[in-house]
Amino acid sequence: MTADAGPVLHPLCRPADRRAAAEALAAGDDDRIAAAVEQAAVGALLPALAQVTGDVGLVPEHLRPDPDDFMDPQGGLTGERLAEARALAASALRELRDGRRRRVEAPPVDDAPLRPLAAHVVGDAHVDDYLPLLLEELAPEGVDRRAPTWHKDDLAPDTPFHVVVVGAGMSGLLAAHRLRQVGVDVTVLDKNDDVGGTWLENTYPGCRVDVPNALYSYSFAHATWPQHFSDQATLLAYFRRFADETGVRSCVRFGTEVLGATWSDADRTWTVRARRAGAPDGTPIEELTAHAVVSAVGQLNRPRLPDLPGIEEFAGPWFHSARWRHDVDLTGKRVAVVGTGASAAQFIPVVADQAAELSVFQRTPNWLAPTPDYHDDVEPETRWLLAALPEYGDWYRLWLFWRMHEGLTAAAEVDPAWDPSTGTVSLLNEMVRLGLVAYLDEQFAGHPELRDAVVPTYPPIAKRIVRDNGVWAATLTRPHVHLVTDPIERITADGVRAGGVDHPVDVIVYGTGFAASQFLTPMQVTGRDGLDLHRHWDGDARAYLGITVPHFPNLFCLYGPNTNIVINGSIIFFSECEVHYLTECVRLLLAGGHHALEPTEAVHDAYNAEVDAANARMAWGASSVNSWYKNASGRVSQNWPFPLLEYWRRTRVPDPDDFELR
Ligand code: NAP
Repeated sequence: MTADAGPVLHPLCRPADRRAAAEALAAGDDDRIAAAVEQAAVGALLPALAQVTGDVGLVPEHLRPDPDDFMDPQGGLTGERLAEARALAASALRELRDGRRRRVEAPPVDDAPLRPLAAHVVGDAHVDDYLPLLLEELAPEGVDRRAPTWHKDDLAPDTPFHVVVVGAGMSGLLAAHRLRQVGVDVTVLDKNDDVGGTWLENTYPGCRVDVPNALYSYSFAHATWPQHFSDQATLLAYFRRFADETGVRSCVRFGTEVLGATWSDADRTWTVRARRAGAPDGTPIEELTAHAVVSAVGQLNRPRLPDLPGIEEFAGPWFHSARWRHDVDLTGKRVAVVGTGASAAQFIPVVADQAAELSVFQRTPNWLAPTPDYHDDVEPETRWLLAALPEYGDWYRLWLFWRMHEGLTAAAEVDPAWDPSTGTVSLLNEMVRLGLVAYLDEQFAGHPELRDAVVPTYPPIAKRIVRDNGVWAATLTRPHVHLVTDPIERITADGVRAGGVDHPVDVIVYGTGFAASQFLTPMQVTGRDGLDLHRHWDGDARAYLGITVPHFPNLFCLYGPNTNIVINGSIIFFSECEVHYLTECVRLLLAGGHHALEPTEAVHDAYNAEVDAANARMAWGASSVNSWYKNASGRVSQNWPFPLLEYWRRTRVPDPDDFELR
C-alpha cells in the first residue's frame, strides 16, 4: 500500500529545492513577511537566515535567547529585544527577497560557520559539547550526517551477512534503511499488513503524537507537517512514505509473526521461526537463517488488559484502546472507560461527543502540560515561511530539540536535601508543580470536587505529562460525563462495580496501557548454550545500552530496556543512536573477521548498576506512583536517566573491549 496523503516528506538527504523556495519568497509581500516573523520562533529564524546568507551579524549576542528558559516560547526574549529580533529577521527576509542579500552558493566546507549559529540556540556553555550532535539533528543542506560512512563491499565483500529485523515500525524501518545502506542483506518481518507499528495499530479516535512533529521525525527526513502535533493517520502516512522512498518496503514480509529465534554456536547463526500472523497452531513454521537478529518490536506493543475479576463476564462489547473496535458504534450508548493515561486522555473527549453517558474510571490523575496549539494546523504564515525559507524548518527542529531535552530533565532530578513529604523532589520540581496546579485550578474553576480529584499527589515528571489544550476539563465537566475515582472491584455482566456502586454500561473501553516491561514477548529467544532469554531476564529485562545482552550473540534490541524518555525529546533520537550503534557493531564484526559479539557480563552489569542508581535519583524512580516505567519488581526498566548527549556519546563507536568477540 502506498501513501497518497500526509506530510510533505522532504527529499531524503538532499538540500531543499532552492528554486521553489525562491519563488515562494518572491510571492511574499512585506505584510506576509511581517506576519510570518510574528508567528515564528525568532531564536530559530535568525540562525536560519544567518546560515542562508552567511551573515553572522544576524545572530548578535544581545538578541540571543536564554538557552535555559524552557517555558517561554521565545526563549525569554521579551519586549524591546523581541521586537528588535523580529525587525532584524523581517528586514533580512525582505532583503533576500529583493536580491539585496544573496544566498551563499556553496555550503560551508567545515562546521566553523555553524558554531555561532548553534550557540545562538543552545548558549556558549553547551555548544562545544553538543555541536556534532546538533548538526546531525539539523542536517544542514540536507546532508544526512548519520548516514553510515562504510560499505560491506569494502570490508568483507565475500562474507555473507543476513540480518532479520523483527518489526516494521519506526525503529525497524530505520534499521533496515541503514543496513541496506551498508550493503547488508535485510529481511524485515512484521505481523501486520503494513508498516508503521504503533502508528498502524493505534487507531483509537483522537490518537496523535505528543512531541511536536518538527522533532518527531527522522533527522534525515524532515517533513512539512500540516499540524504541530500530527494525528495518527498523518504519522502513518509519513512512515509509509519513508518505507516507499527508501525502498525499504521491498524487504518487508508482512503478515508474518516471529515466534522465536535460536542461536547456534556451531553454525554461528540464528534460526528465526515465523509463521503467518494469526495462523492456528499446527500451521507450518518457516525458518530463516540470520547472522544477526534485530528486535524492533517496541515497548508499547502488547496491549495490557487489567487484572480485574469478571472482565470476561461483561455482556456487551469491550476492547482495548490499541485494538479499537470501529464496528462498535458508541453513539447514544452508556460507555465506561477504564484508565486515564496518555491514550485515554486522547480518546475520552471524542467518546464523550458520542456517548449518552460516559463513566471515566480514574486510578491516578495526570499532570497536564498546557499546549494551546495541540490540535491546531500549522498557521498559514508559518507554512509560507517554511516554503520560502526551508532552513527555518531545520533550525526550528533544532530549537525544539534543545528546548525539549536536557534543561527539562533537571526538573526531574531528586535533590537529596529536599523534603519528599512536599510531594515533589526538588525546588525546581516544586516550581513546576505549582505551575501545573495553577493550570488545573484555572481549568477546573467552579468545579471544586472535580478539581480535587484531578490534581495529582505525585511529583511532576514521575509519569508522562499529558498535553492539554483545555479539552480535558471541558470534557470532564460535561453533564453526561462522570469521573469515578473509587477503585474498581470487579466487572459484572452489566458494567463496572467500584466503591460498592454498580455503574451499568453498554460498552467498556480499556485504556490501560501495555505490557511494556515484558520486552520481546511473546517471542521465545534462545541464546548460547540453550539459554532462554525470558528465563534469563526473569521479568527484569536488562541490556547493555539497551541494545545487546550477554549470552545472546548478535542480538540487537531497538527501544530496548532503559531507552525510554519521560519528557526530554523524541524517541526517534534514541532509535537513530541505537541503529547507528548496530551498524557500527556489524562493521566491527566484518572488519575484524569476527562472527559474533555479545557484551561481557562485567560491562553489562556495571552499566546496569549505573543506570539503576541514576534512575533512583529521578522523579520516576524515587516516586512510588504506578507507572509503566517500572517492572513487576519495581525496578525502572524503561527509562534512560542521563542526558541525551550521554546516550549519543556512548553509542558513537562500539568499544571492542566491551564485547566477547568470536
Ligand atoms: P498508560 O500510561 O500505562 O495508562 C494506563 C492507564 O490505565 C492508567 O491511567 C492506569 O492507571 C490505568 N489502569 C491500568 N490498570 C488499571 C486498573 N486495574 N484499574 C484502573 N485503572 C487502571 O498507557 P497509555 O495511556 O496507553 O500510554 C502509554 C504510553 O504510550 C504513554 O506514556 C506514552 O509514552 C505513549 N503514548 C503516547 C501518546 C502520544 O504521543 N500522544 C499517546 C498515547 C500513548 P495508573 O496510572 O494508576 O496505573
